[in-house]
Amino acid sequence: MFCGADSRRPLPSALVAGQQPNIGKRIVMIVDFHTHIFPPEIKKQRTLYWQRSTWFSELYERKKAKLATAEDLLAEMDASGVDISVACGFPWDDPVICRDCNDYLLETAGRFPGKIIAFGSVSPAFPEQAAAEAERILSAGMRGIGELNADGQGFEVTDEILLHPLVEVLEKHNAPLMIHTSEPVGHYYPGKGRTAPDLIFRLAKTFPNLKIVAAHWGGGLPFYELMPEVGEHAKNIYYDTAASPYLYRADIFKAVLHMVDINRVLYGTDFPLIRQARLLKQIRSVRLPARAEAKILGGNASALLHLGAGIPPVFSRV
Ligand SMILES: [Zn+2]
Repeated sequence: MFCGADSRRPLPSALVAGQQPNIGKRIVMIVDFHTHIFPPEIKKQRTLYWQRSTWFSELYERKKAKLATAEDLLAEMDASGVDISVACGFPWDDPVICRDCNDYLLETAGRFPGKIIAFGSVSPAFPEQAAAEAERILSAGMRGIGELNADGQGFEVTDEILLHPLVEVLEKHNAPLMIHTSEPVGHYYPGKGRTAPDLIFRLAKTFPNLKIVAAHWGGGLPFYELMPEVGEHAKNIYYDTAASPYLYRADIFKAVLHMVDINRVLYGTDFPLIRQARLLKQIRSVRLPARAEAKILGGNASALLHLGAGIPPVFSRV
């Protein structure tokens, strides 16, 4: 089912007017750049999808692994004080399931304009289909593609010919590609995969105009940006903080300030894997300079997604 709901339409004016900032308070818009939602039927019947995707079964065979719907995400945002969430689906290797979930994401973004921004999933192993689906969903109001997963979807991040049609569409829409990245060292976890910093760096070098959101701190790529020849080619690589407390000590926030341009760091949680409030609390606890904190929590996302152009920001007090 195709739903052409326009997620860019403005908020009702009453809602915007009701959330004007108070004089004397510092106002920061909070954007969670990395969440996952599923259609209710997948949440209810996850076992049916284990056979359709080995990656899905690896992640969600355990009953404890949570699946969230749009309503679960909205409830979490209300409870945590998050204004806008970027909602991703799942990196299905089957283009048909990608499309079904994309329809759900589009419909959700249309129902909650100004609260939910949809990113769609495509399967790059089917390059023409992936490019056509990206064109369809970006034209319908999605703001990016992702979170893709090279291991889960059976493609090589460095396969220039395979990715070229998809990248062309992304560049045309000036939309970012969010890609799962992991650490080449440290503990194993379900869904970790092997998309390490070297591969993301090669992707960035191959497609210098593509905006890449390297999830989970880019698997440690910020450290290598200290090498001048790496930093030079990393200007379009953004890092999200998804699942950070499961991977790094809280010190990472201050450490990264010294390694990369702070305009390229995005607060993201990986909800429902982790509560939005938990990561917010951690970020605030490390006492970053106020300007850096505001950029990480929402300013950078706003610039990357052009939130001024079509989606009026909703503000929270901090
Ligand atoms: Zn991920």
